Amino acid sequence: MVKETIRVYARVKPLGRRQQAAIYSVDNDETSLSSLEVIMPHDLADGFVNNKRESYKFKFQKIFDQEEKQDVVFDSIAKPVAESVLAGYNGTIFAYGQTGSGKTFTITGGAERYSDRGIIPRTLSYVFNNLQKDSSKVYTTHVSYLEIYNECGYDLLDPRHEASRLEDLPKVTIMEDPDQNIHLKNLSLQLASNEEEALNLLFLGDTNRMIAETPMNQASTRSHCIFTIHISSKEPGSATIRRSKLHLVDLAGSERVAKTGVGGHLLTEAKYINLSLHYLEQVIIALAEKNRSHIPYRNSMMTSVLRDSLGGNCMTTMIATLSIDKRNIDESISTCRFAQRVALIKNEVVLNEEIDPRLMIVQLQKEIQELKDELALVTGKQRTSELSQEELLQLDELIETFLQDNDPDSTLDVGADIRKIKYCFLRVKQLMKHSKMSEEKLLSQHLPEEKDIGKEAAEEELKKLKEILQQRDNEINILVNMLKKEKKKSQNALFQLNAASCGTTVLEQSLSLNLDESQSPSCRFSLKEEKDFSSSVHRLPFLSRQTGGKMSLGCQEAFEVFKRDHADNITIEDNKLLLKQRFAEAKHLGEKLNEVRNRINHLKGEIIQRRIQRAALAVSSPSEELNTLDLVEEKLRMQMEEEKKSYKEMFGHLKGLKIEIEHLQLLMEKLKMKLQKDFEVWWSQEAINLQTQQEKPETVSSPNSATVYPQCIKSSQHLSSDSSSETTRVSPNENPPRKDNSITSSNPTLKTRTPPKSSTSVPLTGDNQADADILAFIKARQNILQKKGLGNK
Ligand code: ADP
Ligand code: MG
Repeated sequence: MVKETIRVYARVKPLGRRQQAAIYSVDNDETSLSSLEVIMPHDLADGFVNNKRESYKFKFQKIFDQEEKQDVVFDSIAKPVAESVLAGYNGTIFAYGQTGSGKTFTITGGAERYSDRGIIPRTLSYVFNNLQKDSSKVYTTHVSYLEIYNECGYDLLDPRHEASRLEDLPKVTIMEDPDQNIHLKNLSLQLASNEEEALNLLFLGDTNRMIAETPMNQASTRSHCIFTIHISSKEPGSATIRRSKLHLVDLAGSERVAKTGVGGHLLTEAKYINLSLHYLEQVIIALAEKNRSHIPYRNSMMTSVLRDSLGGNCMTTMIATLSIDKRNIDESISTCRFAQRVALIKNEVVLNEEIDPRLMIVQLQKEIQELKDELALVTGKQRTSELSQEELLQLDELIETFLQDNDPDSTLDVGADIRKIKYCFLRVKQLMKHSKMSEEKLLSQHLPEEKDIGKEAAEEELKKLKEILQQRDNEINILVNMLKKEKKKSQNALFQLNAASCGTTVLEQSLSLNLDESQSPSCRFSLKEEKDFSSSVHRLPFLSRQTGGKMSLGCQEAFEVFKRDHADNITIEDNKLLLKQRFAEAKHLGEKLNEVRNRINHLKGEIIQRRIQRAALAVSSPSEELNTLDLVEEKLRMQMEEEKKSYKEMFGHLKGLKIEIEHLQLLMEKLKMKLQKDFEVWWSQEAINLQTQQEKPETVSSPNSATVYPQCIKSSQHLSSDSSSETTRVSPNENPPRKDNSITSSNPTLKTRTPPKSSTSVPLTGDNQADADILAFIKARQNILQKKGLGNK
């Protein structure tokens, strides 16, 4: 067992363009802890802190200042934890800080550049690289991704892709076994046998997280996300399994609302917006206290799940993320204070080894056989489990002699053979029973008058026994039925389990394989890698799903304009370009690889040819020279080695490229989704504005008085915080027939907002729908132009 204090690091987020830096200094001492000093300006100190302290100093393991990059953060923080997880210990890394301070950026990564990959993708890469290198053990890796929002857990790795709200995801609940171990019911553990599969799962989780979040319910700032890598390892032939877990945790924003006290706003009394962070702090305070026996883990789901990570069996690391601009200085100080308390907690790390019972049985059976063999060697007899007929007869004789012997000191000696001893006891018991029965018989012969009474009693007894028999029969029938049901259930469960373990296959199947323009046929490259590439292209049909598969023309055009002006579009275009480049590189490399392979094959052919020739020559005209080393062959061999080396190098490079391409594709999907979401929010806002305008009769600008509800509004959740407001699902066939101003799709979950009954709206027909769309678009366009200052009123 190793006692470890929780390591605490700080990371300062780069300042935004319009932000003003607070006064702070970082002293990264190589030999001991680093320190961060924050100076609170006098005016602020007056407002927030009653004791008017000016300078605050905090100690950290290391402080990553604004310019530090993701790779450095990974190397210092996550690598040591990943290493101990590979060795069989549990690990946790959690990011704590206010919203916008860089928690998600640090844990998952930025959505723009490959180099912005965060701790999760880098750890996955590191873990799988190490597992591949170690052939001394058999490893199995699973991942899970849990989101906790409002004390409810949700499985983010739900492969059905149907979630449009958090509530659509499978609910995860906590269960505690008699040993007080926590189990998470309904959280799927997905098998990930390589980096690519694990990254796909991470992406699936992030996507579910993003889709489930609506602007009204900013889940990402109010929820905790826990990505867990589960590793089990076993040496071949050994019954011992090592199991370890690595939790990578993105906590909810730690911002607080200041409580108004007598002396104004008191920094020290500010309250968390998120209640479970309050409970986390309570757990941490309790753990820091000496001699405290009760730690209130059970108060919230998050503290229950992270129970081992806090003061338990886990190597834990915390990253305090800080926004160091002037306006956020009080929150940054709160974060640092929390970190100082966390740094006091000691965890006890133990190796998680357990014995596999099946393997144990095999081992024991082997041991028994060995002992039997040894015994046979010593006694000179092969011992079987049964006694021979001859031995039994001998024993019977011995027993009889013993029983008939009146000498009280007589003994029955059968030797040190447990089989014989057992047989003797059994035989004596049988003999005793037999003699008792004969005694009773004798007695009944002497008492004939009691015979009738006995007969009656026997009949009574028979009746009772029959009844009992009937009862047992019934019971057996019931049990057989129950058994059948259970069997069926377990078959179902097995089937589901299989389905879950094939999660990635399901995932792949549901991936849409539309080819993006960036993947034109000319960008393809040969080699079997190509298949892997195309299978991961465009995993999810986001756009069609998000819009319910239909977008009216007006809406579509507005989307095009919106997209063109959106900041992310530039990044998408950049990434597209980069992706094209990478594909071209990969294609080029693939071709080169093929060439090298051909050359190797050719050289191989030449060497074989050469050998045949020399062998034939040796037979026809033997000479000394033919027995010596063939220099030509040696040269060919060296050439081949060279080619092989370059083949290996290129292959490694291609593999790296493949991962980068994968990542870029994921980033683009994410950005596209974000764009789409932003558009939906904006569009629904426009719809509200338009509606309010049209409800005022004097501002009606179109002769058509239909109220416009743009068709691409996903759900009314965007419009109102009241989730019970009217939302209806209309299947496409129920839609009134429209002129061909819509792109059709097979997705049946089109959601439209029905107009409120009180409004003066008329049902939209094909014609006025088109008009309404055009009207909506003109309005929307005017709005965009106005925002840009180009409006023509
Ligand atoms: P949080 O998860 O704490 O709410 P985010 O990770 O979403 O915060 O960060 C907010 C914004 O700041 C994001 O746009 C993110 O890309 C950016 N950001 C955060 N940390 C860094 C950093 N170290 N370098 C560059 N950009 C960062
Ligand atoms: Mg975040």
